[in-house]
Amino acid sequence: MKQKDFEVLLLPGDGIGKEISEQAVKLIDWITKNTRSNFKIIRGSIGGASIDEYGEPITDETIQNAKKVDAVLLGAVGGEKWDRLNFEIRPERGLLKIRKEMDLFANFRPAIVFNSLVNSSTLKPEVIESLDLLILRELTSGIYFGEPRGIEDISNGSKRGFNTLSYTTEEIERIAIVAFETAKKRSGKLCSVDKANVLESTILWRDVIIKTSKKYPEVKLSHMYVDNAAMQLVRNPKQFDVIVTTNMFGDILSDCASMLTGSLGMLPSASLGEMKNNKRLALYEPVHGSAPDIAGKNIANPIAMFLSVGMMMEYSFELPVMNNLIKTTIDNILKKGFRTKDIADESDKILGTQEIGNLLISELERVK
Ligand code: NAD
Repeated sequence: MKQKDFEVLLLPGDGIGKEISEQAVKLIDWITKNTRSNFKIIRGSIGGASIDEYGEPITDETIQNAKKVDAVLLGAVGGEKWDRLNFEIRPERGLLKIRKEMDLFANFRPAIVFNSLVNSSTLKPEVIESLDLLILRELTSGIYFGEPRGIEDISNGSKRGFNTLSYTTEEIERIAIVAFETAKKRSGKLCSVDKANVLESTILWRDVIIKTSKKYPEVKLSHMYVDNAAMQLVRNPKQFDVIVTTNMFGDILSDCASMLTGSLGMLPSASLGEMKNNKRLALYEPVHGSAPDIAGKNIANPIAMFLSVGMMMEYSFELPVMNNLIKTTIDNILKKGFRTKDIADESDKILGTQEIGNLLISELERVK
């Protein structure tokens, strides 16, 4: 007898998004069979798939559904087929729109190194061994959303492209609270990354972070300029535990952190909104894109997607045990030398996307 029913909206998107989503379905079905919770998967369209079907990268109906369900799981969007479309209706606009409409301001991007993969990174094993850091990126404001923006004619055929980097006190305060609360539950160390030496919006960022820190005396706060942070992430990533930063800086730093873990195919993410009426809107997705260069070949790494399902179990469904089980099972598979091509050495057993998905389920069956 099931005690709880949950609905998950699955938006596979484009390219490898579709392939890894099918593996996530296997995992969610397994979780339904082996827990007291029932996870019903509802499917929807986003990105190029939605453009092909409905003429727009996301429909209002999909956004309404996303707000109704208990969590959204997304594959990836984008591809050459839609690259020449007007900017406003390109696949990536669907992603920005759903994040904005759901007000998912807090983006958690953990970078965890599985020790069996220390040799897959381009960095020395001792630099990254046992690394477990979390980048918390502000997701609904900053330069990706600021107005005015555009490209305008100036003179003699010359143009000017411009964007606006802006943050309000309230926008900074709410991400700061999430950052301090998160740091409190981990090692109690928080590093705020900005560019307060040259950008006014991040002078305000630093001021608000410092003001919020007064309520969290148990958290040790430090500040770093983004250029130094990029260098330090590669030089000595283990000096960090939780990093909180703006939308664009977080975007760039988390891709940099992904290479510490061996591949972009290893990085999950969770994007959360504010708690309202006992409900927090949430969207889970791998950090990587639709990888058109490998799409349709059954070689995409589904691990970032599995880890995203794990984060969903912990953050939205209060099943941290399931998140840990998923991570341990992935570690077991990696320890046995099974890999997708992106993280494999010559001595490893290379498997396809579907085969890694099947192996995950049989390993879960074995250890449950
Ligand atoms: P990408 O993340 O799709 O790929 C970058 C490189 O990493 C490629 O070589 C790819 O093969 C590899 N890679 C990515 N994920 C992998 C996986 N799971 N397994 C193995 N290898 C993997 O970034 P890109 O090439 O810059 O962009 C491709 C498309 O994706 C573009 O249309 C872009 O706009 C879009 N994009 C979407 C998202 C998203 O949906 N969240 C994020 C980034 C890019």
